[in-house]
Amino acid sequence: MNISLLVTRATQNLIDHVEELTTLDQAIGDGDHGLNMRRGSKAIQEKLPHWSELSTQATLTAMGKTCISTIGGASGPVFGTLLLTLGKELPDQPDHHDLARALKLAIEAVTRLGKAELGQKTLLDVLDPLQKCLDAGGDSLVARVKQCALDSCEATAHIEATRGRASFLGQRALGHVDPGSRSVALIVSAVCDAL
Ligand code: ADP
Ligand code: MG
Repeated sequence: MNISLLVTRATQNLIDHVEELTTLDQAIGDGDHGLNMRRGSKAIQEKLPHWSELSTQATLTAMGKTCISTIGGASGPVFGTLLLTLGKELPDQPDHHDLARALKLAIEAVTRLGKAELGQKTLLDVLDPLQKCLDAGGDSLVARVKQCALDSCEATAHIEATRGRASFLGQRALGHVDPGSRSVALIVSAVCDAL
């Protein structure tokens, strides 16, 4: 697995969808999510050549630190914490059980940080089904992980928001996909396509 290629594809997919992410956050937030994710993605892409000697785990840790120092908003610490935990918990050559275990710990760390729960229209509503899909394993896992990310992202449109900025809208957030969930889906689908 070439981590540098996966990082390049995932960050580029976020950059290529900056307008869509902006529109989603304009509908139920403050409109900055696209620019936040593009800023973090560009910072990671600029630093990536300097990380070529790093292990996969150290690269994830460096990405997490970059997210925290460049993205801002709620999503900087959230994506930063996810990446820092994955960097700490993933073994060399992880299988799907290792990925599921590390993602579970990453979700717990984000939950401690942001105090959001499942069903509150945040990216946790994509990460949790993804974790379960990885844990279950089975045939065509890469294709199913991608589909799980896309489907659970779409499903956030049917959730009322009770956490984060969108919570100020309550029921008016219904019908709109959660922007952070869309970012997770963009990252996961780019990684799955590159595998
Ligand atoms: P901000 O909300 O500060 O403007 P962004 O617009 O960049 O930050 O990110 C918004 C996204 O962050 C939301 O769509 C949601 O998925 C995620 N988010 C917000 N608050 C939380 C939280 N407490 N826990 C987990 N994710 C959250
Ligand atoms: Mg925002």
